Amino acid sequence: MYCSSCGEKNEENAQICTNCGAALSSSTHSEPEQSKEPIQPEPMQEEKSAQQPVQDKANIGINIITFCFMPLLGIIMYFVWKGEKPIAAKSALMWGLIAIGVWIVFYIIIGIFVGIAGSIDPTTDF
Ligand SMILES: [Zn+2]
Repeated sequence: MYCSSCGEKNEENAQICTNCGAALSSSTHSEPEQSKEPIQPEPMQEEKSAQQPVQDKANIGINIITFCFMPLLGIIMYFVWKGEKPIAAKSALMWGLIAIGVWIVFYIIIGIFVGIAGSIDPTTDF
């Protein structure tokens, strides 16, 4: 190797120059630059929740019919709708149960009234 100061030829393993005494740096090899790969951010895929096309809401008409005329209709519609329209199904079932309850109370009141009326003999002569 040659001295970087005076150009004198020295041995490969020499630490200092034999001519001028300058330090010989044998470790002149340049460190390879580490190629840094740019971190590629993973693309964020926002999956939109599939909205149900079926409009699920309480069916007022069915509820009215259930409550006024056919309490069993609410129960039937509950089993029909509970798969695809749970809200409407629960609403129909609720009104069906309410209607049944109201009708039961209604008939109890009628029964009590009839019973009271039957117990009273209008022909009783005080
Ligand atoms: Zn030298």
